[in-house]
Amino acid sequence: MAHPKRKVSKQRRDKRRTHDFAVVPTLATCSNCGATVLYHRVCPECGYYRGRQIIEKKAQ
Ligand SMILES: [Zn+2]
Repeated sequence: MAHPKRKVSKQRRDKRRTHDFAVVPTLATCSNCGATVLYHRVCPECGYYRGRQIIEKKAQ
């Protein structure tokens, strides 16, 4: 198996991990029902997007 020739130093390891943080999604509030929704997504609660009904929801 491929095997690293040298130990990765703490500095090099930690520099590699500077890009590994988790990104918190930007949230918006639905203008129709007030639920918290992701940007550029149809509201999962009421099916509205940009003021229009996009998908029909059985229970409202
Ligand atoms: Zn909504």
